[in-house]
Amino acid sequence: MNEEIVQLTLLQKIDHEIDGIDSEINEEQAALDQKSVELADREATIETLQTKIETLEKERRTLEVEVADEMVHVKDRQSKMMQVQTGREQTALLKEIEDGKKSVKEKEGKIVAIMEEVEGLTAEIEENKNLFKGETELLMEETEKVKKAIDSINRRKKAQEKKRVAQAKKLKPAILKKYDNLRKHRNGLGVVNVLGGVCQGCFMAIPPQQYNLLLRADKHFDCPTCQRIMYHQPVDEE
Ligand SMILES: [Zn+2]
Repeated sequence: MNEEIVQLTLLQKIDHEIDGIDSEINEEQAALDQKSVELADREATIETLQTKIETLEKERRTLEVEVADEMVHVKDRQSKMMQVQTGREQTALLKEIEDGKKSVKEKEGKIVAIMEEVEGLTAEIEENKNLFKGETELLMEETEKVKKAIDSINRRKKAQEKKRVAQAKKLKPAILKKYDNLRKHRNGLGVVNVLGGVCQGCFMAIPPQQYNLLLRADKHFDCPTCQRIMYHQPVDEE
């Protein structure tokens, strides 16, 4: 194989290892981010429940004021009963008292229902707060673990990058620049093998004449379709 190609493929091997290391780091980080999102969701749930309680409590206080007012009104009507003369007036007052008592009873029922609902919601908040506490502790532990893992991965990356610098020096600036550019725009693959006349980068057939040259000559060409640097190396089929 052409010496330049040998060095290029070695460089690409190192680059792929660095790519792999980068995705390892991303995966670690993504798992952590996911947990942070879950924790934020838990916090939002607690806030929603608290808002619900606040709304209910406000409703309860309004009802309590109304009940107190209505009870005063009922008492007032009751004392007025002593003064009325006619049966008609009495009937009217009695109805008013009856209605007032009924309304008070209804509202008291609502107040009890609200208190029960608030009790349920408070328990729910308590449960979520406990979970939040546990999850926060876990996330902190996990963050520490991931940090250590990423540090260790980064040490491996540094070693690979050092290797890369040394390997890159073995190539002429022009071909290195071309390769780097191809890698950037061609999915991390700059130099590719051609098997059976097919570019292993874009999987398009190359012209037979060019393929013949590639087989015979110790040279390399650019793929006419994807422009990647092509070489030919037979692959043992086991
Ligand atoms: Zn191609």
